[in-house]
Amino acid sequence: MSRIAILVPGKIHERVLATLKDRFEVVAVEKSETLELDAETANRIRGAAVSGAFAGRWMDQLPSLEVIASFGVGYDAVDVKHAAEKGIVVTNTPDVLNDEVADTAIGLLLNTVRELPRAENWLREGHWTPGSAYPLSRFSLKGRHVGLYGLGRIGQEIARRLEPFKVKISYHTRTIHPDITYDYHPTLKGLAEAVDTLIAIVPKTPHTHKTIDAEILSALGPDGILINVGRGWTVDEAALVSALKSGALGAAGLDVFYDEPVVPAELFSLPNAVLLPHVASASIPTRNAMADLVAGNLIEWFDKGRPLTPVSETPSAR
Ligand code: NDP
Repeated sequence: MSRIAILVPGKIHERVLATLKDRFEVVAVEKSETLELDAETANRIRGAAVSGAFAGRWMDQLPSLEVIASFGVGYDAVDVKHAAEKGIVVTNTPDVLNDEVADTAIGLLLNTVRELPRAENWLREGHWTPGSAYPLSRFSLKGRHVGLYGLGRIGQEIARRLEPFKVKISYHTRTIHPDITYDYHPTLKGLAEAVDTLIAIVPKTPHTHKTIDAEILSALGPDGILINVGRGWTVDEAALVSALKSGALGAAGLDVFYDEPVVPAELFSLPNAVLLPHVASASIPTRNAMADLVAGNLIEWFDKGRPLTPVSETPSAR
């Protein structure tokens, strides 16, 4: 019997490929405007595994496509609306990365507040000589009031990790969590006015676009700290650069940027910005777990007609 054909457009984790090759026929193609596939192959493709974008027009080229397994919990680069219209299932990789991303958020927070990367650079550059000492950090985490913009799977893990730091925790989401005792703010502005530290962990959607703007940054104030581990899309980067330069905002720690891998050049020279290249989930164990979930979603779909972790917008069963 011929094997089910799975399309892999562009690069994906090696472990996804290795697992899929055991079970399926893997058709690897470059990502381009239109997929370079002959009609016979295109007609045979029933599943896809992808890291990053999957365009609606590619779905139109694949008449037998049933399921797209996306690598990552954020699936904003997959045209889910188009997939839903065509009855194509989309899956993502939630939960297996919660701990890693939450750990990174805490690390980035501490690095930003206590200037640890700068202190290390100072040492490496040979400035630590008898009688010298790295300047005291302007900020401390002690006594801070941290606001979480997003309290989903990852946001809740960040909050759990913040509790032992004895900081006050508040949050803003569209829906209140009646079972959670942190202070709820129905607006982001209200949260920013109440806290001095804001951690953004919301998805890229039309509603979150540039919501962290000049007004929110100025509400955080000159002693305010912004940490973003969600999506760069959420921040007005021009307003952020200007606030960091003028001192309207104290400091920022960023793992994500608006137009990755482009990082606004002005940020490189700002001492009050800590910058990471989108590495929040980027450990070997966590990426392996994500890879297994991508392959597992395709296997479950074709074995049982029900993927492990479907997204909410598309069908979840045959
Ligand atoms: P969840 O879907 O579990 O949680 C999302 C949270 O955001 C919910 O609390 C939701 O609450 C809130 N939210 C969504 N839209 C809005 C809005 N318009 N206003 C206010 N709150 C909103 O997602 P995860 O926690 O699993 O992941 C969150 C995002 O983190 C991912 O979508 C991804 O983009 C990003 N991410 C980044 C990583 C990195 O490497 N830096 C790694 C992993 C994830 P409600 O619906 O009630 O508003």
